[in-house]
Amino acid sequence: MKMPKGKIDLHSHTTFSDGSFPPADLVALARAKELKALAVTDHDTIEGLAEAVGAGERMGVEIIPGIEISADYPPGTLHILGYFIDYRSAKLKEALKEIQEARVRRNPEIAKKLAALGVPVTMEEAVAESGGGQVGRPHFAQVLVKKGYVKDTEEAFEKYLTKGAPAYVEKRRVLPEEGIRLIEDAGGIAALAHPVQLRARTAEEFYKTLDRLIALGLKAIEAYSSCQTEKEAFFFNEAGRRRGIFVTGGSDFHGALKPGVELGGMGKWAGLDYGVVEEMKKFIGKRKTR
Ligand code: AMP
Ligand code: ZN
Ligand code: FE
Ligand code: FE
Repeated sequence: MKMPKGKIDLHSHTTFSDGSFPPADLVALARAKELKALAVTDHDTIEGLAEAVGAGERMGVEIIPGIEISADYPPGTLHILGYFIDYRSAKLKEALKEIQEARVRRNPEIAKKLAALGVPVTMEEAVAESGGGQVGRPHFAQVLVKKGYVKDTEEAFEKYLTKGAPAYVEKRRVLPEEGIRLIEDAGGIAALAHPVQLRARTAEEFYKTLDRLIALGLKAIEAYSSCQTEKEAFFFNEAGRRRGIFVTGGSDFHGALKPGVELGGMGKWAGLDYGVVEEMKKFIGKRKTR
């Protein structure tokens, strides 16, 4: 039997995007959960990584500096995770600035639409919810819940904020190739986050998208996720193995901003452990010496 190498979680958010835990608190929680490695993957920002890495060193949790980039993909949602990125890269920071500005432009429009719908959330209220980081839809959702307009985050999204709902506002996103390129240029490994959200209707359609992303540089697939069933995880695990890319997993932990998801929680135990982190580090090491 294979010896387990330690628990990991390769997808988590802090107050720098739409998580409710500041980086150091998130790392403390990872330690309490006995995680050996944690990837911190805020949406479109790397601002929380220095603090997370520092906390990891103090607390004995290996922090994988990461990011989650939302790419343009009309049939569904395409989020690309980057693992082991150089978060000191000036080029990456510069590129992210543009993406962040698109978000900043979108938020007042969401506020305007919510007001017109009779469930007003001001920018001030959303900002107060954000803990000082970027403001996103989950913060609007949180205020909607607190003001009693909806019963929970899920209802806030379904009724108002999800794609196609009346307070949804499009934001300019990077193309998949740009997102992958940003991660590769920063020395990282690009992974397909929660592939179920691509909403592929058939296995064939899924493989077509996957192969296109692999051709663009994708190197990993998040088979295990709090938002994927055991059956889905099995399918995506199989896809990753068939294509010879890394099979990874993460909880997509957001703390109070995504109730019901636990750090380290990604469905049934499926043999995913620190071994994949070792493999990825070996891969990066080899790439560097080439
Ligand atoms: P934004 O980056 O502002 O567009 O917000 C994206 C975030 O909203 C993601 O991190 C998701 O976790 C969250 N989100 C998207 N759809 C839903 C949903 N239906 N229910 C709960 N959270 C959602
Ligand atoms: Zn999020
Ligand atoms: Fe995501
Ligand atoms: Fe996420």
